Amino acid sequence: MAYIRLDSKAFFHNLTAITNELSKACPTTPNLALVLKDNAYGHGLRQMAHLAKEASIESVFVKNYEEAISIAQLFDTITALYGEIPPNAPSNIWASIPSLQALESCITAHKNAHQTRNIELKIDIGMHRNGIAINELDSALAQLEEAEHIKLAGVFGHNGYGDNDDESFFTSVQAFREITDKVRKWCEARNYPMPRFHSLSTSGALRLGLHNANGNDLGDLVRIGIGAYGYHTSELPLHIALKPIASLYAQKISSLYLKKGDKIGYGGVSVVEQDGVFSTYDVGYGDGLLRVDSRQNLTCASGEKILPVMSMDCFSCQSEREEICVFDDVRAWAKEFGTIPYMILTHLSPALKRVVV
Ligand SMILES: *Cc1c(COP(=O)(O)O)cnc(C)c1O
Repeated sequence: MAYIRLDSKAFFHNLTAITNELSKACPTTPNLALVLKDNAYGHGLRQMAHLAKEASIESVFVKNYEEAISIAQLFDTITALYGEIPPNAPSNIWASIPSLQALESCITAHKNAHQTRNIELKIDIGMHRNGIAINELDSALAQLEEAEHIKLAGVFGHNGYGDNDDESFFTSVQAFREITDKVRKWCEARNYPMPRFHSLSTSGALRLGLHNANGNDLGDLVRIGIGAYGYHTSELPLHIALKPIASLYAQKISSLYLKKGDKIGYGGVSVVEQDGVFSTYDVGYGDGLLRVDSRQNLTCASGEKILPVMSMDCFSCQSEREEICVFDDVRAWAKEFGTIPYMILTHLSPALKRVVV
């Protein structure tokens, strides 16, 4: 059976490389939180959560309550980025609140709760995707003042310009700084415990690290996703060597000796140019790969061309290997399909076995 191999050494290397890079620019060691959403970017939530625990990561971000509850024993803080949290959920599962309406319904749902729910307000700092508008912040804080069983434990933004050489990055940094100041003052005036503040993902953190001569602060933590998995998509040169941690392996289903002119696969798209042995391997687009056709030019990690067209559960190439590494780095796949590594990775089927080495 095909499987995904997860290289734990590469994962620990990435975390250390990111910490070192940020420490260079930042007087205090930044606190890394790991983003484990969408089945840990397709790597396998359970496996990556255990590795994160081994790496002493304390805070993680997941997609929703279902993901959070499945790893609830492992971390002090698990923020579900989307959806609601049932009032009886474990108290280390925090809710992200992206709108005044969501805040209201969270407050209502917890009115008669037996425990306090930690929440993190998500504020729109310029990406205009989701979040409470800056001019709604006062209203959110006013609601919180009255709320029972709800604790403001975090305030965060998402700087959507980390990858781009664009001034908007710094506009968002400034917007978040103003929000931080405002909430700090609000807390101080009421003796309210200070929440944590964070706004940067991989590329934003690395980028602000580069600029830290200006005294920019990274926040109480940075939310590292793609960098931990070994990639970044920054347009700006980043001097950091990250290592992809996932590789996909497939097993041989069968081999055939084919002659020049023979056709392979649906529609006979591939035509044999030279007599030889061709084999079929047990992974295809049904396992979450994008379907390779004659427009792409992709090879396995050991160099064999993946012959168009890929089938649902298998693909062919000229090889006799019993096992083949389909990829150990998805950048070529992203490039050939005009997309980003995130997409290639998150599509990998959760049904594929994950093997941590
Ligand atoms: C996905 C996500 C991240 C991580 O982004 P990367 O580019 O993968 O580091 C951080 N914060 C939020 C809110 C996210 O949704």
